[in-house]
Amino acid sequence: MARRLTRRSFLKASAVTATVSCANVSTGRRGGPVAVSSRNGLPSLALVVERMEAGLPPVDAAVLGVEPVENDPEDMSVGYGGLPDETGVVTLDSCVMDGPSGLAGAVAALENIKNPAQVALKVMRRTDHVLLVGEGALRFARAHGFPEQNLLTDRARESWLRWKERGSQTDDWIDPADNGEYGKEWIERPTGTIHIGARNAAGDLGGCTTTSGLAFKIRGRVGDSPLIGCGNYVDNDYGVAGSTGRGEAAIVTNGASRTVQYMALGKSPVDACLETVRDVARMTRVPRLLDDKGRPNFQVNFYAIDKQGIVGSASMRPSTYARFTENGPELADTAALFD
Ligand code: ASP
Repeated sequence: MARRLTRRSFLKASAVTATVSCANVSTGRRGGPVAVSSRNGLPSLALVVERMEAGLPPVDAAVLGVEPVENDPEDMSVGYGGLPDETGVVTLDSCVMDGPSGLAGAVAALENIKNPAQVALKVMRRTDHVLLVGEGALRFARAHGFPEQNLLTDRARESWLRWKERGSQTDDWIDPADNGEYGKEWIERPTGTIHIGARNAAGDLGGCTTTSGLAFKIRGRVGDSPLIGCGNYVDNDYGVAGSTGRGEAAIVTNGASRTVQYMALGKSPVDACLETVRDVARMTRVPRLLDDKGRPNFQVNFYAIDKQGIVGSASMRPSTYARFTENGPELADTAALFD
C-alpha cells in the first residue's frame, strides 16, 4: 500500500495532522512500518515510514528522517545552526545502527560537515570500524565527497557570545575544592538532539541519533549521541532504543542498550524506557545533580520500539515525543518518572 507523497506534501500533512495524545501507552501498527523519535522528528516520520514501505532499510530511512533537522538553521541542537562548544566551534556527533547486519557506524567531534548521520552511515558501510573522531572523521568525510562549510550561524554565534560575555558560572569546569559536589550555580542551557528509531513491516530495526551536543561544552566533550549503546542501540531480535537529554547520564547507564535489554527481558517499550530512567535516577548521587528533594535536576528521555512494532517513551520529567503508528504521525506524552 504505497502512499504517494512528495517530501513537501508529507511535511505539510504531518504538521497539520499532528496532535498531542495524552496517552503514553505504547501502540503498534498491525505489522506495518512504525517509527519513533524525539519531538523534533515529528515532521520527518511520515517520510521515514513511506520510505520503509518503498523498501528502504530502517537505518537508511532513519538517516533520511534526521536530514531536514540537521539542515535546519533554526534547530540549534543539531547540524547546521547547532550551538558551538566553549571555544565557539560547532562540533557534531552521530551514530547509526542496523539491526539485520548488527553493524554500526559513528562520528564524534566532527567539524564543518552538516550531515554527520550520513557520514556515520558511510563509516558503517565503507569501513571495518565503528567510530571515527575529530580530524580523522573530517578526513574520512572529505574522502567521500561531503561538502565542507562553516556550521556556525549568526544566531548561534550571538548566543555563544552572550554566554561568553556573562563570564558566568555556567560552564562545565568543576572546582576541585568541592570535588564537584557543590558550589556551582548551574543554569539551564539549551539542549536538544534528534533520535529516530524505525521498524519495517518485516520486523527489521534501525536507529540513528545526531546532535551538536551540549551547548558551550568543553572542547572535545563527546556526549551519548555517537556512542553505540548510549544514545542509540539496536538488537534486531528485540528492539531499538535511543536517548536525548543529559548525555552524561545516558553514557554512565549505557541507556539505549539497557533499554533494549529490558525489552529482551520482556518489558514493553514504555516500561523498558521507564526502568532505564529509574536506573538513571538511582545512579545519580552527587548533590550538584540533585534537586532539594533528592531527585535528578536534569532531563533525560528514552525512546523505543520492540520487535513487534510497539512504541514507547519515558523521561525524567514530563515531556512529549513523536511517533508514527496506526494513527499516523503524532506527538504523545512520555511516561514521566517525576512530576
Ligand atoms: N544528549 C545530547 C548530548 O548530551 C544532548 C541533548 O540531547 O540535549 O550531547
